[in-house]
Amino acid sequence: MYSDLEGKVVVVTGASKGIGEAIAKRFAREQMKVVVNYRSGEKEADLIVDDIKRSGGQAVAVYADVSKEDDVKQLVGKTVETYGTLDIFVNNAGIEKPSPSHEISLENWNQVINVNLTGVFLGCREAITYMLEHEIKGNIINLSSVHERIPWPHFVHYAASKGGVKLLTQTLAMEYAPKGIRVNAIGPGAINTPINAKKFSDPQTKKDVESIIPMGYIGEPEEVANVAAWLASKESGYVTGITLFADGGMTLYPSFQAGRG
Ligand code: NAD
Repeated sequence: MYSDLEGKVVVVTGASKGIGEAIAKRFAREQMKVVVNYRSGEKEADLIVDDIKRSGGQAVAVYADVSKEDDVKQLVGKTVETYGTLDIFVNNAGIEKPSPSHEISLENWNQVINVNLTGVFLGCREAITYMLEHEIKGNIINLSSVHERIPWPHFVHYAASKGGVKLLTQTLAMEYAPKGIRVNAIGPGAINTPINAKKFSDPQTKKDVESIIPMGYIGEPEEVANVAAWLASKESGYVTGITLFADGGMTLYPSFQAGRG
């Protein structure tokens, strides 16, 4: 637990399931005031809010498609209307649409880039604008991926978007550091969330994925949420512009693990 987080206002985008849900619940346990953003999962978002409230926490569900400029403006507006301020913004929403790269339509390319990269830009821009106007030494956390570093055939739009998130994070971190605003990213490896449910339901595929994780297991969303809590807290107060990989060692060239090479 991080006592400095108590009472802080946080927005988590795409929080109706998976990593976003785990981050929203973790922040609620830190006694933060939480905005659970959703696009399609209204029912799930309401259940998460109920769950948080039943445990004595504070949360509200707010609709926004992060790829739409007006929606993101309204998301920040409703946050401030509800809780009076904004301290931390987590750009978590993300999608993937696997396909051989030469078969990816422009529409599919744009969908992934619009959510994973433009959505992160819009979230950062609106949060930073509010923080600057109100002289808030705020904190932004972007969900990147190990695929900001590791190329990923059939996921070229996804990998390109996460590579973009990496330099977006570093650039904003540098630009707004003098204002006391920190911007960091988290790079999860393979995590047990709905985005991967189909893939990991096949035992052989699951085994194949585990074999490229030095720690030998697929991570849980709560293990990513732990990293988000640390990055949000003042325990990481001198940290900005990094991607903190939560990947069981996936980015460490696992094929060399047995002394090969
Ligand atoms: P998920 O599919 O389980 O959840 C994604 C959430 O984003 C959902 O709630 C979905 O409704 C929401 N969303 C999608 N488009 C949206 C939009 N336009 N506006 C608002 N919300 C939207 O995925 P996850 O595994 O929890 O992934 C969360 C983040 O972590 C993503 O950015 C993803 O790329 C990243 N990530 C996940 C993994 C993994 O293994 N699960 C690995 C690396 C990175």
